[in-house]
Amino acid sequence: MYNVDAVRKQFKAFDQKINGHDLVYLDSAATTLKPDVVVDRIQKFYAMESSNVHRGAHHLSDQATRSFEAARIQIQKLINASSDEEIIFTKGTTEGINLVATSFAEHFFRAGDEIVITELEHHANLIPWQNLCLKKNLKLKYISVLADGSIDEDSIEQIISEKTKLVAFSGCSNILGTFLPIEKIISKAKSVGAKTLIDAAQLISQKKIDVQVLDVDFLVFSAHKLFGPFGFGVLYGKKDLLHQMPPYQYGGAMISTVDFEKTTYNTLPFKFEAGTPHVEGAVGTDSAIQFFNSLGIHNVFSHEQQLLKIATEKLSAISEVQYFGTAQNKAAIISFNLKGAHHSDVGQILDQMGIAVRVGHHCTQPLLKKFNMTGTVRASFSIYNSITDIEKLILGVEKAKRMLL
Ligand code: PMP
Repeated sequence: MYNVDAVRKQFKAFDQKINGHDLVYLDSAATTLKPDVVVDRIQKFYAMESSNVHRGAHHLSDQATRSFEAARIQIQKLINASSDEEIIFTKGTTEGINLVATSFAEHFFRAGDEIVITELEHHANLIPWQNLCLKKNLKLKYISVLADGSIDEDSIEQIISEKTKLVAFSGCSNILGTFLPIEKIISKAKSVGAKTLIDAAQLISQKKIDVQVLDVDFLVFSAHKLFGPFGFGVLYGKKDLLHQMPPYQYGGAMISTVDFEKTTYNTLPFKFEAGTPHVEGAVGTDSAIQFFNSLGIHNVFSHEQQLLKIATEKLSAISEVQYFGTAQNKAAIISFNLKGAHHSDVGQILDQMGIAVRVGHHCTQPLLKKFNMTGTVRASFSIYNSITDIEKLILGVEKAKRMLL
């Protein structure tokens, strides 16, 4: 049995009142709350171990380096990469995608080549490609999304062609919750010799990822959506590709030898990690993964799926609720509008009741425009949410209905 009360006790955020109410946190798709073990680990690092990595000849630096590299191994295991050299530390999903756009696509693609994404991408997996296509005269193509928020599988076949050099797609939509048919997309991409990138920002907390089984070329995610610190993330890349790619940024730590005339670069993964890294980010992420593993991803998934089912049923009883994203296979992310009310007003009323949701375009403006919308209210559920949270959400939506309609 999944013990949500025991999980909640591990988060200090629930000890406070928000606008006089207990916190109902339904914004985990934006960022998850951080458990005490992660906060304590970062605090301990700053208090006792704060030191730079890979350079000092002293105890603390040695210790920091060991903790930093232990995090890399922890992350390698999380996604089953074949080597820790394939785990590049970044500041998050966004930076990982920009790194691949700059060091891989910009370097290797030629005018006329095509990059394929989907219509449901977060701006982080759209704008870097759009910009690159303008700069290099490449073509950006989109796999279509159907009205229920699922991917049009015929479109996968039509859009990915011999001209496609890269297919970059989200494993799970941050606005619709839809899980994408990852294996199908990768298999089609491989059949035309295209490389693949998975934006796993949402997927990482939902499903066990095995990069070797998926045979994906690149995968990116952010620690802050996995109960870890802000400003830290991961780019996984296949070793042979990373070897061929030039550095992304230049400076200290990414070098092997430097002369006034020329520089040789460090080995993987350090070639892509210029400058002093986010050491406490790595250390905190290590704790976050240990914490997440202790819950068991399958237990977490079934808990959240149960919340999704109950919340959807209860919200459906309010006839003014209109859903955006009703695919069969989706994460516990519910985007909706109250017919006749603005999403921001609904969000404000919920906030007064201590209920945290996200409102707006969720960094998916083109998708919303396609369906003639400007925004939604998004309630996203995670490990610490309970049926009581759903009941409070329903009370809040009913109150918003009374006040706004
Ligand atoms: N992709 C998806 C699917 C996301 O949900 C997010 C965060 N909302 C991002 C990319 C960007 O992540 P970050 O801001 O942590 O770089």
